[in-house]
Amino acid sequence: MSSTPPRALTIAGTDSGGGAGMHADCRTFFSCGVHATTAVTAVTVQNSLGVTGFTEIPPEVVAAQIRAVVTDIGVGAAKTGMLASAGIISAIAGACDEVGIGRGREIPFVVDPVSASMHGDQLLHDDALDGLRGELFPRASLVTPNLDEVRLLTGIEVTSRAGMLDAAKAMYELGPQWVLIKGGHLASDPDCMDLLYDGADVVELPGPRFDTRHTHGGGDTLASAITSALAKGADMPEAVAFGKRFVVRAVEAAYPLGGGVGPVSNFW
Ligand code: PLP
Repeated sequence: MSSTPPRALTIAGTDSGGGAGMHADCRTFFSCGVHATTAVTAVTVQNSLGVTGFTEIPPEVVAAQIRAVVTDIGVGAAKTGMLASAGIISAIAGACDEVGIGRGREIPFVVDPVSASMHGDQLLHDDALDGLRGELFPRASLVTPNLDEVRLLTGIEVTSRAGMLDAAKAMYELGPQWVLIKGGHLASDPDCMDLLYDGADVVELPGPRFDTRHTHGGGDTLASAITSALAKGADMPEAVAFGKRFVVRAVEAAYPLGGGVGPVSNFW
């Protein structure tokens, strides 16, 4: 018999194509030697061509999954992905308070403010943005927006590396302990620079930009690798640096799948 490994929790939507969402999260947790536990928020109908629909899980069932997992199995860190609705967000906030997930509590909490797929399919109702800002960001140890999510959440349009710091400051004002702005969508930048900010210091995380369109699940993989490192006891800068190294390898090894966009890989 082996000893119990570190555990982490993903609160997210499924991807029937197995590329992104909760599936990417679980793959990444396992690759990092972390047992994956899950609270499903929505079931998407999805393949490499996009998301054609989703069904939401009742908010009280999302909260019950979180309670069930944390009170018995215990987790060293938790993350969110697709949350779909304001009702689900409120239920998550309440359950997190009950079981000790969130900044200043024992379980670090990574909030990835997923709003749409890379095909542009909406994964979060418009009226849920206030819930993210008001209920989840103040509870977050880390938020990990891409530049589209920054625009949606703060109104700031980032067109240069310099603009990323303004975005980080605006996101920080919404209450998280740390902000990671992901620069992957800044096409004018030949590299993929991300910025980590804690209200005082800025850490630049440079990385290569690969010539591939197969990046489905890249954001989920980054947030999950960070969550895995936190579950193993890393501090935030260490965990984010680990996550960045992990996602670079995952994008480098991305593979085609179906007739559309393939996923980043965990086979390497
Ligand atoms: N589907 C689900 C359920 C997701 O959670 C996500 C991202 O978090 C996506 C799809 C979108 O992934 P991508 O933007 O990499 O296409």
